[in-house]
This record gives sequence, C-alpha cells and structure tokens, in this order.
Amino acid sequence: MIRGSKFEPEENKNRVSSSRCCRYCQQIFQPSRYRPQQSVCSEPDCQRRRRSDYHRERIRRDSTYAEDVRASQKKWQQAHPDYWTQYRQQHPEAAERNRSRQRQRDQKRRLLNLAKNNLALDLKHEASEVWLVGPGMKDLAKNNLASAKVFIYQPLQSLTREARRS
Ligand SMILES: [Zn+2]
Repeated sequence: MIRGSKFEPEENKNRVSSSRCCRYCQQIFQPSRYRPQQSVCSEPDCQRRRRSDYHRERIRRDSTYAEDVRASQKKWQQAHPDYWTQYRQQHPEAAERNRSRQRQRDQKRRLLNLAKNNLALDLKHEASEVWLVGPGMKDLAKNNLASAKVFIYQPLQSLTREARRS
C-alpha cells in the first residue's frame, strides 16, 4: 500500500483531530493521531469487544485463519482436558449465564428461520409451538412480515423449564 499525503483525501486529514462516537459504548472520544480511522475508544471493555469482533469476523471470512484457530484450540484442550469441567464446577453462575445466552441465540436463530421461511403466516394456527421473546423481536421486526402478523408471547420461564427437561 502506498502511504503518502498526496494520496490521502482531504477529508481524512481533517478527521485526524476530530472527536467521535465509540462504536460500542457510544461515548465521545479522541482518536489516536497514529490511528486516524479509530472507531472504538480506548476503554478496556470496548477494546476487548473490538478484538473479539475482529477475531469472529476473520474466522468467518478467512478459512486458513479459522483452521489455525481450531487447531490451536484443539491442542490447548488436549493439554487441559478438565479445564471446562472444572471451570463450570467452580463458576456455576457463569455456566448458567452461558446456558441462558445459548438459549437466547437458539431462540433468535429459530425466529430468523421462521421469518425467512414465511412460516409467520401460520403462527396463529400453531400457538402451542410458537414463542417470540424480546431479544429476537428486533430482528423479526426488520422483516415486513412482522407488521401484519399476530405474535404470541410465552414467558421465558416456561422455556427455561422446557430446556432443562430436554
Ligand atoms: Zn467505547
């Protein structure tokens, strides 16, 4: 890549000194003069999120990188076979939080599939099988189907019981 002032658009130069809004915490911050494109503030939490988003995104589009990550995870797991079992025993609340997040992701995926497959039309006929919860509604609402249909809410509690049983 060629780096030099004559190749830089005027607007980039002006942006160097201007403050901006952090992509994650929405706070105003001053980008580093060494990284004029910086879109995330320097708070540790925001930097952690930036790194993990970058990591996830790179795994998604770079298959060599994804393979390396899988291989090194496997190697690490072989060297520490009991790590997660012990971690779950020592941190029951974290394990429960992970399970609940996984359930939310599953619910969201099912919601998206519903919307994608146009099954929403049948929602009102199959009330017993349908549940729509808070976090997924945003995604479903993006779909045009949402405005015209009837949604049935089922308390999250009974979902939790269902998940435990299975
Ligand atoms: Zn931030």
